[in-house]
Amino acid sequence: MLASSHSLQDAVSMDTRSDTDCIIVGGGPAGLMLGLLLARRGLDVTVVEKHADFLRDFRGDTIHPSTQQLLGQLGLLDEFLQRPHADMSRVTLSWHGTELTLADFAHLPTARKVMTFMPQWDFLDLLADAAGRHPGFHLLRSTRIDGVVREGGRITGVTGTGPEGAVEIRARLVVDASGRDSEVRTAAGLAPTEVAAAMDVLWFRLPKHEGEAYPFVQAGAGMIITIDRGDFFQIAHVIPAGTWTGEAEDVPEMIARLRRISPRLGEAAASLTRDDVHLLRVRLERLRRWYVDGLLCIGDSAHAMSPAGGVGINLAIQDAVTTARILGPVLENRAPLPRDLRRVQRRRAWPVIVTQAVQRQMQRPLLTTTQPGAPLPRPLRMLRDHPALTRMTGRFVGLGA
Ligand SMILES: Cc1cc2nc3c(=O)[nH]c(=O)nc-3n(C[C@H](O)[C@H](O)[C@H](O)COP(=O)(O)OP(=O)(O)OC[C@H]3O[C@@H](n4cnc5c(N)ncnc54)[C@H](O)[C@@H]3O)c2cc1C
Repeated sequence: MLASSHSLQDAVSMDTRSDTDCIIVGGGPAGLMLGLLLARRGLDVTVVEKHADFLRDFRGDTIHPSTQQLLGQLGLLDEFLQRPHADMSRVTLSWHGTELTLADFAHLPTARKVMTFMPQWDFLDLLADAAGRHPGFHLLRSTRIDGVVREGGRITGVTGTGPEGAVEIRARLVVDASGRDSEVRTAAGLAPTEVAAAMDVLWFRLPKHEGEAYPFVQAGAGMIITIDRGDFFQIAHVIPAGTWTGEAEDVPEMIARLRRISPRLGEAAASLTRDDVHLLRVRLERLRRWYVDGLLCIGDSAHAMSPAGGVGINLAIQDAVTTARILGPVLENRAPLPRDLRRVQRRRAWPVIVTQAVQRQMQRPLLTTTQPGAPLPRPLRMLRDHPALTRMTGRFVGLGA
């Protein structure tokens, strides 16, 4: 194990070097969970996050039953449940007014049989607080990593810019968990391939009135996902890629579409302006190889997930668990070799491939624009006619592939 430093923020700024067992780029679900798990083993680990805090709006909010099981095993479940949250025992969908269950969690073999919605900044704060109780854990905020250090063909560190200027950190292992637009991945020479055509998400808030509620997913003329954040609704409206042009007519067209899917929600959105609506680009892609000597990609950096099914956070967390299990013991003794990194990819590649294949199938009918009265797409008919299938989908969403 390498020497630990409590004042790493000072040590790494302004061109100095600092050694740590593992550098993790990105303080999202994958990066912070891995940081926590490695620090619990007594390793020295540094998570580098480009933002000053976790208060970004564009994050999924779902904490899956399997992640909650993990939090229980880590002794963090009570702390988790003290934070603002809402539980959902099944995922419902409304198709032009016809309601059906997409996934039922009631039969899962987990202590909590619910999907929990928690603003992601609260969840990430929880992980960062828990990790910070271990002396080997360091979180560098406001530090953006955009380069790698190579020695003899091996990646041995990263470079970037922090609040005080240039930063260079060396480590036995670099883990890139910086998400779908990773710069580190590019610097390492890795490029993802597309699994399905991109789609776009229009992301906006709507006020919530006393007793007001919507099905989680509403579809039929595009798709609307409604996340209840207590005092407001966070809306994700999924549309085919490139159909939001940035022109003035975008908003009235969007409101007309919302009205066709959900008249009530369309009404609530009537006063939105273009400034209220953010365009997020969604990609479904993955790396063929998740690693190069000295660096491993996990989470969305290795496999960008679509919001379909709300499973990307679960996969990112499961990547972190597998990485900690396989590489934690290695890091205690030596720098991981490519064959060690390959073991992580081997263990995680199939769940990712299966999940992305399902997401690709799900995206198609839900994106299709149909008129009221249009028949339910076949997969939805099957779920309606064979309710037992919703236990399987509950397993898929709640536990993962
Ligand atoms: C619109 C939308 C909605 C979604 N909704 C859901 C949902 O409800 N449920 C679900 O399970 N999944 C959802 N997903 C998918 C989910 O968001 C991702 O799969 C998940 O966040 C991946 O976690 P991650 O830790 O790998 O990456 P991220 O969550 O992307 O975290 C990466 C972190 O790295 C930081 N970072 C980036 N670049 C750098 C850099 N150069 N230097 C330092 N730090 C850097 C970022 O600031 C960020 O904090 C959604 C996706 C989209 C696009």
